Order: sequence, then structure tokens, then C-alpha cells
Amino acid sequence: MAELGALLGSRTRALAVRRWLFDGGPVPESLPVRLPGVSAASWSVLREKAPLPAWSLADERRAPDGTTKLALTLGTATVETVLIPGKGRSTVCVSSQAGCTQRCGFCATATLGFTRALTAGEIVLQYAIARAAAPPDAPARNVVFMGMGEPMDNLDAVLAAVRILTEEGLPGLAASHVTVSTSGVLPGMKRFLKESAAHLALSLNATTDAQREALMPQNRSWPIARLLGALREDHERGSGRRYFIEYVLWDGVNDSDADADRLVGLLRDLPAHVNLIPHNPYDASPLRPPPDARVLAFQDRVHRGGVRCLVRWPRGQEIAAACGQLARRHEAAS
Ligand code: SF4
Repeated sequence: MAELGALLGSRTRALAVRRWLFDGGPVPESLPVRLPGVSAASWSVLREKAPLPAWSLADERRAPDGTTKLALTLGTATVETVLIPGKGRSTVCVSSQAGCTQRCGFCATATLGFTRALTAGEIVLQYAIARAAAPPDAPARNVVFMGMGEPMDNLDAVLAAVRILTEEGLPGLAASHVTVSTSGVLPGMKRFLKESAAHLALSLNATTDAQREALMPQNRSWPIARLLGALREDHERGSGRRYFIEYVLWDGVNDSDADADRLVGLLRDLPAHVNLIPHNPYDASPLRPPPDARVLAFQDRVHRGGVRCLVRWPRGQEIAAACGQLARRHEAAS
């Protein structure tokens, strides 16, 4: 906001630009010639020094439940952004990288390789574009960094984007309405916990290191105890934060009673909230979700162990917008 104000020569003009971008109609592919409320001279400085990142809509798919997946071309990269309507409020799931350098064995994005990291402007732009597709009775007030890419591998840009989304002026999201997810890249995670007030979601997915290494090779560098130790340190510093623990469930892999009991043991002393996500199958993956009854039994066991636990039933599966499916359909079509 301060930078924008300095560029435009006044805070009022900066607020007008934010209103246009985050509260107006659909975002154009480039800045208009004039903007009401901003002098022609200031606006032309902005157009020259801070143009919109080059973007175009490559594809848009809407599922029957309203979940909308946008494939956005950002210069040489294509990323996916998902709008998920909810009761009274929608969530935008943004990508932080085009592709990913991590190699999680269950993830469609991992099969694409890596093109490049996104800039903070490109991350914020995804929110601005997607929020225009939100239903009027459910404005986009939540952002989750759970699209393509590992946010901790592009942390400078992610922290800057979170700051833009949560600082003064529109969109003015509450930090508690922004969640950044990580597959467990410990150095970035520690820095994020120190520098940001946004929520953190740790994609845990296993309760032993052997199990987790088979699914997520990064666990060899940053095993479970060290990851949870970082959350514990943050908690002991008095951050007041709640930690979202993402746990994708696979049939016969990590869905036993023993897994549920170990999960409780790992999280008991943390203000943790487990999100159980039955795997979203895709053709190239041999992994399958457990039957619904097993998912519910797992949830019940964790809950009775004293850890908050919800099932996130997949949304937008028809358009491959569900967790772990991003980029698949688009790739297949290209
Ligand atoms: S799950 Fe996340 S970190 Fe892992 S490969 Fe997929 S996008 Fe990358």
C-alpha cells in the first residue's frame, strides 16, 4: 500500500486503484487508459512502472457445485486457480509456482515438472481474477495457497502476496482467512511462522517417517518430529495460531486404527485441526481413497482421541479441481 501510494502520489489514489482491482468487474488483461479518481499523470506513471502481469484465460470449467477452475496463462507459464463457493463466503485457491520441484508421489502437479516461480503480483492477480467469479452472496473472503507449487520454495513472493492481501485497503482479508500450505519444507516453514500471521497448513499424510518418506521424499531431510517441533516452538512463542494438519487418506496405506492412534499421539499437545481428505483418484495414480465408512471411522477415532478432525469431502472432482488434481485435465487437453 505504501509503495502504491508513493507511486501514485497519494494514499487516496492508491485506495481507488485497490477498489478498482478488488471490488470492480472482471479484471482486464491490461490496465485501462484512465481510472476515475486517479489523475491522468499519476495513472500513466503506474501503467509504465507497475503494469498488470501479462495474463489471459486459457480455460474455465465450472462443476455442478459451483466450484470453478481457471487455467491462467501468465507469460510463459500456465497455472490453475480455483474458486470454491461456500455458505456466505467463497475461497480462492491460488498457485505459488508453475509446476513444482517437490516430488510428492500422490500429486498430479508433481508429474508436470517445474516451469518457474510466480511473482507476488501474479499470485495476487489470481485472487483478483477469481473473486470476480464468486456468487454475490458469497464474496471471496478466504485465500488458501494450496494450488500448484510448494509455497515455501517461493517464500519471498508468498509473504509479499499475503501482505498485499491482508494490509489496509481492499481486499483487506483477515490474516486468519489466509492459509498457506506446505509439504514440510522446514526452513521456509520456520521463517513463515516467524514473519506471517496467516495460518499454516502442514500436509502430513503419514504417521511414521518410513510411511511418509515413501509418499513424500522431502521427509528424508525434514522428518515428522522436526516439522511438528517447529509448530510446537511457534505455539510456545505464544503465536496463538491454530495449525491445520492435512491428512490425505489412502485405502490400505495410512487409514488404519493404528494410524489414527499415532496421529492423535503426534498432535495431542498442539492446537491442531486435522483435515481428512479422501484421495482424489486420477488415472495415472494407483492410489485409491478408502470406502466412506472407513473415512468416517478414522475421523471418529481421532476425534475421540481429543484432536479436532473434519472430513473434507472432495469438491470439483468433475473438473479436476479437487485437491491433488490441479493441472491434470488442462494438461490432457493441451
Ligand atoms: S503436493 Fe504440493 S509440494 Fe507436493 S508435489 Fe504437489 S504441489 Fe508440490
